[in-house]
Amino acid sequence: MKIKEKVKKYCPFCKKHTLQKVSQLKAGAKRGSLKKGSLVRAKRRGLGRGFGNLGKYGSKPAVSKFKRTIKGSKKVSLVYTCSECKKKSMGSISKRVKRVEFK
Ligand SMILES: [Zn+2]
Repeated sequence: MKIKEKVKKYCPFCKKHTLQKVSQLKAGAKRGSLKKGSLVRAKRRGLGRGFGNLGKYGSKPAVSKFKRTIKGSKKVSLVYTCSECKKKSMGSISKRVKRVEFK
């Protein structure tokens, strides 16, 4: 998928549309990954209710032991750098892509 290298986009810090440079987030924490709102994570901390035991015991092996099929595509996170205040904000491509090219 080809993406423009610079886009005009709303900057939440400048509170207006500015020219922003787009780059791909390579590794590390992604957007929302530090949130503690999900029910599965609440159960792991001993909170929350519901069914199931998160795949820990039972006739089937734990979910983490399942054989993973190799997918050829990924959802890509993008980093937008504002040209005026140099601050970064994040976004993503809303579909799975094999690779991203900047033009
Ligand atoms: Zn800005």
